[in-house]
Amino acid sequence: MVQLNEKLESILAEVIRRNQGEPEFHQAVREVLESLGRVVAKRPDLLEDALIERICEPERQIIFRVPWIDDAGNVRINRAFRVQFNSALGPYKGGIRFHPSVNVGIIKFLGFEQTFKNALTGMPIGGGKGGSDFDPKGRSDREIMRFCQSFMTELHRHIGEYTDVPAGDIGVGGREIGYMFGQYKRLNNRFEAGVLTGKALFYGGSRARTEATGYGNTYFVKAMLETKGTSFDGKKVVISGSGNVAIYTHAKVTSFGGKVIAMSDSSGYVVDENGIDLALIKEIKEIRRARISEYVRIKGEGKGVYFVKAGDGSIWDVACDVAMPSATQNELTGKDAKALVKNGVVAVGEGANMPSTPDAIRVFQEAGVMFAPGKAANAGGVATSALEMQQNASRDSWTFEQTEARLATIMKNIHDTCYATAEEYGVPGDYVSGANIAGFVKVAEAMRALGVI
Ligand code: NDP
Repeated sequence: MVQLNEKLESILAEVIRRNQGEPEFHQAVREVLESLGRVVAKRPDLLEDALIERICEPERQIIFRVPWIDDAGNVRINRAFRVQFNSALGPYKGGIRFHPSVNVGIIKFLGFEQTFKNALTGMPIGGGKGGSDFDPKGRSDREIMRFCQSFMTELHRHIGEYTDVPAGDIGVGGREIGYMFGQYKRLNNRFEAGVLTGKALFYGGSRARTEATGYGNTYFVKAMLETKGTSFDGKKVVISGSGNVAIYTHAKVTSFGGKVIAMSDSSGYVVDENGIDLALIKEIKEIRRARISEYVRIKGEGKGVYFVKAGDGSIWDVACDVAMPSATQNELTGKDAKALVKNGVVAVGEGANMPSTPDAIRVFQEAGVMFAPGKAANAGGVATSALEMQQNASRDSWTFEQTEARLATIMKNIHDTCYATAEEYGVPGDYVSGANIAGFVKVAEAMRALGVI
């Protein structure tokens, strides 16, 4: 663990004291504060007006009850959250997560990370995040619709295209965004397209939004590999998860000549040494909404194809050149990082938010592995959401090529900003510090300009 100076240590102690029982939030704040030691040495002005303390405190936290009726007629209750973290750069912006593990600490960590990520995109968006402990697994389409409608019945009074613009995240894809948008439209009697992003194309969505996070992470890692004169071509790649981010990471990695040999879900992981068949994964996950072991059942076990149940092994034991964790927070531990390093990994690009534990990041950095933190590498999703807002505001609709070209430029800029900032602050090649410092300076300067609010 990096030693914090006295001032930063006292800020962290205060964050821990007033946000008890929220380890993920403490972890996210600590990581940023560890990077800020170099900033306060060089820019002591950024310690003024409690800028760091204010950046660690959400502007607003909303917690509400979501009652809904299941198909058997039983009344169910879930708890939901929206944490509006920071609006210095624009309306709060960040996804909604439906997963049984959701609690206020997880939403707070995600909203905190989102603030810096959104700053790095260069777009006019603040940071926020929301979600519920609702478990969509096994729920019928009608149950999902009733839940989304009840959720939006409360959330609608807190959001708006100039206030707070949610999007999808784990458990929330195009279907859920559609049901939420429908209910918002009904309650407000306004077709306010810019209030949610991740919409389907036929009612105001953006081309390339679905693909953006996975594509964006791949563009970031490509730029990182290029700094060492190498590329994805011929590299073996392991991607955890098999949801939105993982699927489109696979697609882009493959188009750059890489070979994806393993993917996972919460039930385990599959390996296919011949290259994971993406069409089959999409059918299993997006159409049948089934478990990933189906892949092996359909392809047949053997000849380099096998399934390992969760708990019986880690996907990070599969030897690869590039690892792209794209499932959830803290899914890649110090032990996993050691296994990856031992097997010769050269680069890691985080598609998920905070998937690597602090121990894992240390192992990668000490071994000289290029490491792209999620708050920079997975920013393509929110950046394309901001492009969706732009199209909505101008009542326009861009081509896929135009939108992807913007995404590619944004990701290259984020990479170059992190790289240059790390150099400027004396930690060349440290993308974690580069991202934290560049994001922080941008938000802090905007906050100072707006006065003590
Ligand atoms: P999806 O719900 O589409 O997919 C999530 C995937 O991760 C599924 O394969 C899921 O498996 C697996 N997963 C989720 N939770 C766990 C867990 N506790 N243990 C093991 N596996 C798990 O979500 P996304 O692809 O949208 O999001 C993935 C990550 O990327 C998240 O960290 C999210 O915050 C981040 N992200 C997403 C963005 C987006 O645009 N969607 C933007 C930026 C970041 P199973 O189906 O079994 O639950």
